[in-house]
Parts: sequence; structure tokens; C-alpha cells
Amino acid sequence: MTPENLLAAQREFFLSGQTLPLKFRIKQLKKLRKAIRENEQYFYEEIYKDFSKSKFETYATELSLVYSELNLAIKKLKKWMKPKKKRTDLANKPGKSRILPEPLGCSLIIGAWNYPYQLSIVPVISAIAAGNTVILKPSELSYNASAIMAKVFNRIFIPEIFHVVIGGIKEAQALLNLNFDKIFFTGSVPVGKKIYQAAAKHLTPVTLELGGKSPTFVLPDAKIKMTAKRIVWGKFLNAGQTCVATDYILVDKTVEKQLLEELKNQIKIQFPTFENGIPENYVQIINERNFDRLLNLIDKEKIYYGGTFDKEKRLIHPTVLHNISFDDTVMEDEIFGPVLPVIAYENLDELIEKVKLKPKPLALYIFSKNKKQIKKIQTEISFGGGAVNDTVMHLTNHRLPFGGTGSSGMGSYHGYAGFETFSHFKSILKKPFWFEPPVKYAPYSEKNRKILKFLIE
Ligand code: NAD
Repeated sequence: MTPENLLAAQREFFLSGQTLPLKFRIKQLKKLRKAIRENEQYFYEEIYKDFSKSKFETYATELSLVYSELNLAIKKLKKWMKPKKKRTDLANKPGKSRILPEPLGCSLIIGAWNYPYQLSIVPVISAIAAGNTVILKPSELSYNASAIMAKVFNRIFIPEIFHVVIGGIKEAQALLNLNFDKIFFTGSVPVGKKIYQAAAKHLTPVTLELGGKSPTFVLPDAKIKMTAKRIVWGKFLNAGQTCVATDYILVDKTVEKQLLEELKNQIKIQFPTFENGIPENYVQIINERNFDRLLNLIDKEKIYYGGTFDKEKRLIHPTVLHNISFDDTVMEDEIFGPVLPVIAYENLDELIEKVKLKPKPLALYIFSKNKKQIKKIQTEISFGGGAVNDTVMHLTNHRLPFGGTGSSGMGSYHGYAGFETFSHFKSILKKPFWFEPPVKYAPYSEKNRKILKFLIE
């Protein structure tokens, strides 16, 4: 089927109104859940082929989020779809005000490779829950994971409702030429700009889930051992190929040495070297291009710990860099790999002023118990979302909308926020016939202007 024919079929199906009832949507969501459950083993096997991601990590960082979103949507959809009553202002009384959610229509979802299942399937869940049809174009880089999604989903869903298109840039561009009602994109900032431009042609609303350099602040009162443990986990998970991973650490000079030592200790515990065999939690760098890019970011003079690698297996040992300043090459672009630069600071206020001027990050983390300073950082610096005394975990709470701001993206999803993202909310005022004050009608008078003023102000 050509992209044009596929979208035309979805449009016809959408306009028939079949996606509107709650029962239809729940049926599709249950079908999706059953398909993933029945094929879970293949999902583990195929992603392993892409970047040797273990079964544990695939469940913990991918499928668990998918199941949790599915279960939530199935449980809450009836409530989400209900019109919401709103209070009516005096001028419109005795009318009634309500907000009616409606699906946007035919949606296009373009996914990234680093978490190929959850970054593709979670928005699909939101789109179906909101009553849209979906075309999903997952990343070509996680080829096997994308192929298994196409194989499983295209077998059980008719293309009019949900279809997976396999391909790379060319296929994405062919889809972007068409007139969708919603585009949901996860990926890099430069491609995000292209998506936005393509969407502008048809005035299609977009959600952009992008990346950036996410800082982690370590203040002098932080419990350093636990801080290091949580940073190391979140940073080196998926070999650092996580959009919300700590990109760099900003540590108070007085605790820098202690933190560096603890980071090293934690890496030794969580990621023993791979010279004597590869431990299960090592994930490969997705391809050679990214592998070479990451090696170029490791300044040998500045290695505090790590720095070893296996080119053939595309593995890089978790690496900590010290004596780093904002002028180092590693501080230019998002790292997106297991390289962790540490910058020591002396004056927090000056540091905040500096970070404020940088592109708005997707995540920001603070390790401290000092409420005043936590508040200062959180209010003065703009960022997508984050955590205090932890990293990454905020995205697992589906009650927290997930998304970026500025160059880290626009719009959000997860849980009800995902339903909102794929919905339009119609505001409706309903009036009875029996009451109509003559105030707003001509002929106008000073008396009526005063009544109007009273009613409105
Ligand atoms: P990418 O932008 O290279 O690719 C993403 C998708 O866009 C792929 O499906 C790809 O086929 C498609 N694409 C690439 N070039 C295109 C073009 N010219 N026109 C149309 N489509 C095109 O990103 P990536 O390498 O897959 O992912 C890494 C980036 O994604 C990082 O910056 C990371 O921070 C970000 N990311 C963000 C989130 C988030 O939730 N905010 C999650 C994961 C990754």
C-alpha cells in the first residue's frame, strides 16, 4: 500500500465514526496488550540483536512502561472520555458549560531507536485511547525491534486502524508530505525542526519529544554515596543512550573528590569491566558511527575512570571525565552514551546564571536536602522535568506529564497527558430557550451597558 492509499483508508475509517465509541477503543487496547504478551519472547530476542539489551533491562525500561500505560488507559478511559462540566459565568446563566474531548483524527508517530518499544508503543496507546487512527514509523537503526513490531501489529490490526511502516528517512519524508491531523515525533533536535516545518504546510499540530544536555547538580549537603549510586544507574542504563540521562554533573568543589571516588566505586559494583566476559547489563552502542563519535568525546587527559572499549563489540566502559569546563568539546552537544563529564563549581548563583543561558534541557536533577537552593534551581532554570535526589525515575510515574520545553521539545504525554495530546477539547455552552434577558440586543442603551458591565465584571 502506498503512504497515500494507507492514509486515505485510515481517513475513510476515521470519518465513518467507528473509532469513537469507548467499546471500540478498549477492544483495540486489549488486542494490543494481548499481542505484546503473546509475543513478548520475540520482543526480547529481537532487541537483543540490535544492541544486546538484556531481558531484564528490556522489561524494566521498555515493556513495563508499555504494560503500565495499557493497563491505565484500559482502566481510566471511560473517565477520560466523559465530558467535563464547567461553571457557567453570570452573563450566560442559566446555560450549562461543558468540555467534550474528541479525537484529532489520523495520526503519524515517528519513533527513535534508543527505546524502540516504549517510545513507539506508548504514544500509539495514547492515540488509540483518544480515538485516532495511527501510522507508526519506528526507527530504522533499531532494525530488528522495529521489524518485530511491524510483524506482530500489522498481523493483528487492519491497516485502517493501526499500521507500522518500516523504513528510514525516505519513508518518513513520504509520510510527512501527507496531511495528518497529528504528528508525534521522538528524536533529535535537527530532525525535530524538519518535522515542524513539514507539519506547518498542513497546519498539523505536533508533539516533539527531543533531547539536549541534562545537568545534574550535586550540592555540598548531598549524601554522596547514594547520590553516586543513583547517578551511575541512570547514566549508564542502556549505555547512556537515554534522552533523560544525566549528560553532565555540576558538583560543589568541596565534595568533588568524594563524589568522583564514589562514582568510581559505584561503576565498579554496577558495571564490572568486560575484559573477562560481558556482564548482562552491558548494552552496545547502536552503531559504528555513534561509537566513533563517543570515542572522540573522551579526552584521554581528563579520564578519571574508565575509558576502555571494545570496538568489535561496540562496548564502552562507563567513563568519568574530570577537570572539565563548559569549553570542553564534550560539553558542546548531547553525549547520548556512557561518558560522564564532571564540572566542579564554587559559586552556585553564578553557575545558575550560566546554565540558564543554555538551551533548555529535557531533564534536570538536584541532589540536596537544602529546600531553598532546590527551589532556586527549579524556579530559575527552565527544563522539561526532573527529580530531586534521583535521576530518570520521574518518567515512570504516569501521573507526571512527560515532555520537554524550548529546544528539548513541545507537548507532553504519558497517562492522561497522552490522551490530551491526541485529543481536541471542544468547549460547549448550552442554553435553554425559556430565558433571554434583552440586555445584549439592539437598540443599545446606557442602562443596558451598565447591566452588562455588572454581569461581566
Ligand atoms: P533521529 O532524529 O535521528 O531519528 C528519529 C526518527 O526520525 C527516526 O525514525 C528516523 O527515521 C526519522 N528521521 C531521521 N531523519 C529524518 C528526516 N530528515 N526526515 C524525517 N524523518 C527523519 O533521532 P535518533 O537518533 O533516533 O534518537 C536520538 C535523539 O532522540 C536524541 O537526541 C535523544 O535525546 C532524543 N530522544 C528523545 C526522547 C524524548 O522522549 N524526549 C526519547 C528518546 C530519544
